[in-house]
Amino acid sequence: MTRRAWLVRTFALALLAACSPALAADFQAGVARVKITPPQPFWMSGYAARTHPSDGLYQDLWAKALALRDWDGGQVVLVTTDLIGLPRAISDEVADRVLSRFRIERRQLVLSSSHTHCGPAVRKNLAVLYDFSEEERKRVDAYGAALVDELVLVVGKALEDLAPAQLSTGHGSVGFAVNRRGFTADGVRIGVNPEGPVDHDVPVLKVVGEDGSLRAVLFGYACHNTTLGGDFYRIGGDYAGFAQAEVERALPGATALFVMLCGGDQNPNPRGTLEHARQYGQALAAEVFRLARTDLLPVRPPIRTAHEVVALEFAPHTRATFEQEAAGADVFRQRRARLMLAAYDEGRPVRETPYPAQAVRFGRDLTLLALGGEVVVDYALRAKRELAGENLVVAAYCHDVMCYIPSRRVLLEGGYEAVDNMIYYGQPGPFTEAVEETVFAALRRVAERVGVVPASGSH
Ligand SMILES: [Zn+2]
Repeated sequence: MTRRAWLVRTFALALLAACSPALAADFQAGVARVKITPPQPFWMSGYAARTHPSDGLYQDLWAKALALRDWDGGQVVLVTTDLIGLPRAISDEVADRVLSRFRIERRQLVLSSSHTHCGPAVRKNLAVLYDFSEEERKRVDAYGAALVDELVLVVGKALEDLAPAQLSTGHGSVGFAVNRRGFTADGVRIGVNPEGPVDHDVPVLKVVGEDGSLRAVLFGYACHNTTLGGDFYRIGGDYAGFAQAEVERALPGATALFVMLCGGDQNPNPRGTLEHARQYGQALAAEVFRLARTDLLPVRPPIRTAHEVVALEFAPHTRATFEQEAAGADVFRQRRARLMLAAYDEGRPVRETPYPAQAVRFGRDLTLLALGGEVVVDYALRAKRELAGENLVVAAYCHDVMCYIPSRRVLLEGGYEAVDNMIYYGQPGPFTEAVEETVFAALRRVAERVGVVPASGSH
């Protein structure tokens, strides 16, 4: 919109506001969806134990976009996907094309994934899980290439849909997530730890059109989307897929978008059946529905955004570590070792990984922090303590899911989220103890760039 058009519109809206009790719209909002269900059968992602491709479908998978624009050039497009995780290769390609086609900058684009373990293999994510035939690899590559097109398409469609809207926000709670880091005589194992930290927050962003109709509800939860296990072979969105479908059924005309929060060390409990997934989806949807029907806290402009990529350092390793691993019996360790040895051979051993951190702030009313990787819950709890006074949503699984992001505590305790996940992600090994402080330093920088002032003494 040109400045002149903006002035005319502002004047018209002011006139309208003077004549009617309705409030002028603070934002423009657009929503869109594109189906991203893979062709059947298709290799699924998330569990190393799976031995064959999918044998059915219980739910379609979606990429959805919510475009938000203030009247002064501030904008953000939030994209959610029913996928295990987007690798950097895909996110970078999408971001480049979205920049050149729509002038949406990287800091204005959030690319998230629900971490469903009933979704397709996504190329360059968790590649160590697979030993594809040439034909299978081509299918996975073709799906990945089509996915890039579809993510660019859904952003474009959301931008075309922009229309005046009001935003509001609130928080609810559901309790099915448990801390899964079980302490045993053999160390930390994935299990159920009722004493461990959790974050049962259900943040909601509600988008209402000028006619009062509910157009979109964005909501999140910090819990692995793993109700169904590695013995399950049907494609679907797990509890987050059921939650979105249920919200859309209960609120006709509205688009429901799910954002995974810091659920790296959280699992639904109990788990294992499609009925469990449906129940958790319904529980989450009921809470979102309850909030969506109430008057929530108004969200005002401007939209401010910041994004940066930092390097997270891995603990020192040597070639000998991986020569030994390559000679061992574990096929996944062998594959990881081959990747690492190839990197050594090329003279660029993997010493660090790029790590994205982003902040999106709406006036003083709501701040979304969007982090890459499988972030454990400690990060959300600490961010909420350090930025007390800020209405905060801490999302993970955004932009790049390259491995787990343990806190210092989790790193020192060990277990899957600290060490073993690195095998399946094709990474060299645990991070250094600096991981948490490096991530928090990046978070503070992006938060400060969007106007968040940390509580005094929190540094
Ligand atoms: Zn995971």
